[in-house]
Order: sequence, then structure tokens, then C-alpha cells
Amino acid sequence: MNSLPNILQISDKPSWQQLLGNTIDDPAQLLKLLELPESLLDGARLGNSLFSLKVPLPFIQKMEKGNPHDPLLRQVLPLGEEEQDVPGFISDPLGEMNANPLDGMIHKYKGRVLLILSGACAVNCRYCFRREFPYSDNRLGSEQWDKILDYLRADSSIKEVIFSGGDPLATSDSRLQRMIKDLESIPHLTRLRIHTRLPIVIPQRITAELVEILNGNRFDTALVLHANHANEIDDELGSKVQFLKKNQVTVLNQSVLLKGVNNSLEDLKNLSETLFHHGILPYYLFTLDPVKGAAHFDVPDQQAIQLHQQLQAELPGYLVPKLAREIPERPSKTLLI
Ligand SMILES: *Cc1c(COP(=O)(O)O)cnc(C)c1O
Ligand code: SF4
Repeated sequence: MNSLPNILQISDKPSWQQLLGNTIDDPAQLLKLLELPESLLDGARLGNSLFSLKVPLPFIQKMEKGNPHDPLLRQVLPLGEEEQDVPGFISDPLGEMNANPLDGMIHKYKGRVLLILSGACAVNCRYCFRREFPYSDNRLGSEQWDKILDYLRADSSIKEVIFSGGDPLATSDSRLQRMIKDLESIPHLTRLRIHTRLPIVIPQRITAELVEILNGNRFDTALVLHANHANEIDDELGSKVQFLKKNQVTVLNQSVLLKGVNNSLEDLKNLSETLFHHGILPYYLFTLDPVKGAAHFDVPDQQAIQLHQQLQAELPGYLVPKLAREIPERPSKTLLI
């Protein structure tokens, strides 16, 4: 590729931190790297002003050059359409502002607490339901962390802690280790879950240290990845997944159903089969959360249900993800069928 940031020119084995620190955030540079027409630039700049472009190089390398419809590109390229106001598409579609008893924590479901470890992500996905979330009010500093530990200690109905974000793996291994150690001291906690997209866009993030940290505690541990298309999954990621599995970490995947990315039977089938080939089980297929700026990704419920039924007719049950959405105020995710 031309005009790559220095990092790939100086090192053929950059660390995850280098890759995370050298993401592409200039729409013109992204178009150039992918040999895409400049006619896309005005829209990309407009979308970029609403929610900035951010994409790591390993993810760009999985995209097809010269293809403006590439399913990976579509997830990250800002578009002019994002400016349109579409009825029903709002800033906080999940009502998370109302389930936020402490900064950095969301406790909506029984037995499970979600922690926002890091406001940052390695990639900015255009359809993200948190594109408008006030992360700056949800920084998890040491004061907040102590309050969260008190909260967890005081409620023995909580069995599981979910590290989420942003992306929790944007955090250093040493911080993760300290947090897990603190959580281990709370006897009623038994499960640890990590929701992350980072290994999909930077597989190098699964370091030996990280795997050791995830294996070296008393929790039953699951890592839930977020891939939406088979092209996101390659052998490098697969070998990292095998490494996690050998170390007693269960690896699952959740996806979002997105128009122009994966809303066909072939794409969904290919995704499930590719996931399993690499040792990952499909968990959820979410419908789009109606967040402002993402209406162009919307797939009507009727089509979603039909696709899911077709998938079920073609795949073994364990490769069919649950088709679900999040409806504010409900006690769990809501299944569509
Ligand atoms: C999705 C979610 C969970 C996890 O739900 P599962 O059905 O257990 O995967 C937990 N807490 C919050 C706030 C969530 O949004
Ligand atoms: S939270 Fe997940 S979906 Fe949203 S921008 Fe970050 S990686 Fe993408």
C-alpha cells in the first residue's frame, strides 16, 4: 500500500499498542489507501464531522481495493446520509442514561453488571449505539472503581461482571489484571465476560500476557467478539482464538444485522460457518439500535425474521445466533422469534 503511516514501514511486526496508536482517521487517506474515487470524499468529511472516522490498518488490509461496497468498508466509512434526521432514530436508543447507578457501570439485568472500562474503541463503527454516549461522564477512575467494588460487594445477586466499553481491551493488560484481582475478592462473583471488537480489527491484541491473565483467575471466563462479516475473520485471529480456548476461555461472537453488510442468507451463513471453523460460536444477531445517523443500515424486522428462519433451515442449531434486540426497560434482550 502507498502512503502508509510510518509504523508499517519501520516494522513488519508492530505491537497492538502501535497499531492502536496509528489508526487511520483522515477520510482522504482511507480513500487513497483503498483506491476509491474522490467523489466519496465530501460525504465522508460530512459524516466524519458527526462521528469521527477511526480504523486500524489490519482491518483496512482485509478490505477489497476499489470496492466502495466492501462490507468491511461500509462499517467504518462516514457518509453524508448520517446527517439526515430520520424519525425514531435518536441519541440514546437504549435508555442507558436511566440505568447508570454509578459512573462507569450499567446494571440493567439480573445477576449481571456491565462496566465501561474504556471510552475508547480501536474502530469507530458507524452503526454503533454508543456513538452518542457521553463517555466523558463515564470515566472509570480509581474513585469510581472503589464505589463499583462497594456496589458489587453489597449485592450478592450479582454473579457476573461484564467488561465492556467502548472497548475494554483498549486498556492495558496490567490494569485488567488489577481489576480482575479486585473482583476475585468478592466471593459471590463467579463469571467474567469481556465484550470486545478489538481482536477483530487488531488480532495482535490477544497477547500471551492477556491469555495468562484470563486463565489465571478463579472465574469462568467468556470472551464475546463482535464480527459482522466472514471477511473480518482470518487465520491470524483463528490462531489467537485457539490459544484462548486452550486456556479455558469460551469464545463467542455477537453481530449486528446491517443493510449492505450482512443482510443476505449467504453472508449470514458464511459468517456462522467461518466463526465455527475458527472455534467461535455465534451468540447473538442483533437488530440495529435506532441511533441517530445510522438509519441507512436498517433492516426491516420482517426481513430479519425471514433471514433468521432461512438460516435455521440451513445450519445446525448451534450455528444459528439468537435474533434479538434491546428494548429499554425490559429485563433481558428481547428475541424476535
Ligand atoms: C446486553 C447486556 C448484558 C448482557 O446480556 P446477555 O443476554 O447476558 O448477553 C448485560 N448488561 C447490559 C447493560 C447489557 O446491555
Ligand atoms: S463499541 Fe463496538 S460497535 Fe461501538 S464503535 Fe466501539 S467497537 Fe464499534
